[in-house]
Amino acid sequence: MVRGIYTNRTLNLRSIKAVGYDMDYTLIHYHEREWEERAYSYIKERLLGRGWPVEDLQFQPDLVMRGLIIDKTLGNVVKANRFGYIKRAFHGTTPLEHGQMREAYTRTLVDLDEPRWLFMNTLFSLSEASMYMQLVDLLDADVIEAKLSYADLYALVRGALDQAHMEGRLKGEIVEAPERFVALDEEMPLTLLDQKESGKKVLLITNSEWAYAAPMLAFAFDPFLPGEMTWRDLFDIAIVGSRKPAFFTARMPTFEVVSEDGMLREHVGLLQPGHVYVGANASLVEASLGLKGEDILYVGDHLFTDVNVSKSVLRWRTALILRELEDELAAIDSFRETQQQLTDMMARKVEMESEYSAYRLALQRAKGNYGPDPARAPDEIQAEMDAHRAKLLALDAEIAPFARASARLHNERWGLMMRTGNDKSHLARQVERYADVYTGRVSNFLHATPYAYLRSHRGSLPHDEV
Ligand code: IMP
Ligand code: MG
Repeated sequence: MVRGIYTNRTLNLRSIKAVGYDMDYTLIHYHEREWEERAYSYIKERLLGRGWPVEDLQFQPDLVMRGLIIDKTLGNVVKANRFGYIKRAFHGTTPLEHGQMREAYTRTLVDLDEPRWLFMNTLFSLSEASMYMQLVDLLDADVIEAKLSYADLYALVRGALDQAHMEGRLKGEIVEAPERFVALDEEMPLTLLDQKESGKKVLLITNSEWAYAAPMLAFAFDPFLPGEMTWRDLFDIAIVGSRKPAFFTARMPTFEVVSEDGMLREHVGLLQPGHVYVGANASLVEASLGLKGEDILYVGDHLFTDVNVSKSVLRWRTALILRELEDELAAIDSFRETQQQLTDMMARKVEMESEYSAYRLALQRAKGNYGPDPARAPDEIQAEMDAHRAKLLALDAEIAPFARASARLHNERWGLMMRTGNDKSHLARQVERYADVYTGRVSNFLHATPYAYLRSHRGSLPHDEV
């Protein structure tokens, strides 16, 4: 079910007293190719300003996906499994062969606490990561400042993207033509309204500033709310410019937005219903609502700031919005029959490998003249073993195209977002650790209702299949 809510830890929505929402890529979903193309073009503009020959570079959204990890030391982008073992890697835009990967990473595990690694937490990472891959190619080709390290190069791209997000022009373009960038979801406002009417406090906590958040929310919400109601009436408390993750960890000062054009006044004391604030902090939200940790559900798309920090520091309940999940689940679904064939072939392979091992052992014993088996001539065993091996190789050849197709599901270069082969991906591991539930879009809560009891699965362990 593409529109499901998937539960890592049981969440009873009835007992949730307040639901806080992130805005970008949560309450408002962008056509990420459009949005990120604009961000990319601003990075490019700054690099052109440095005199770099990047005129011809084009944004290639499929070069990367959320959940990949930039290796700033080697100029690579990698995909790791849940333990941090690197299973796929690109240097610049070129895939590493198996041997090159072993050479680069046999003794290396991804540990996101080390500054070497940069986890792609959100769809906002697409522009910088694809630009970085393309620039690594140029750095290797000696056409940009040769003395830069791969880490310096990353810092430059990051700085350029930061600038693009913070200076007004990029956001100005979006506000000018929201219909080009926003994927409207008519069910979204009703989802929040249902929650509000069921007695929950509904909060907005976004890092976007007032000048951007106000027109975007008006565009995405107001037309779908009843009567004269606007987004302002929907949120019990709205916080813009929230500076997450510091919002969750520090007691930052609060300002109130006191005019439509965004004039601010310092605010002391509890947050008042119906007002819009800038800054503030999670402790103040808890105090103002008289709620704590488990009473509050926070819904966001940024794996680190929205769910990891809010969960680790405050033990808020968390929901992660992963829009790409819809495409991932559709890809898995369209592959279902082929997957079944692949699974059957793999089961046959496992069986044949075990038979092959038995042949090898029988041969070893026959040659060594020991063991309980009736003695057979080593030549005879060898012949059977060779025939068996030929069958195994034939099966391998049959499996190969299926396995290749499976490895290209969802993203041609990287495969599925939540899996590396049969295992969970590093992204999936982060998701299960920090997100109590995850889903493709906020409006999936509409169908669940504010009263849903979301139960986790029993989960599986390697011995379950025994
Ligand atoms: P939220 O998801 O609603 O908290 O808002 C995200 C805000 O962070 C948006 O205004 C983005 O423009 C901004 N943002 C996203 N990525 C970056 C970045 O790399 N540097 C600075 N701001 C960013
Ligand atoms: Mg967001």
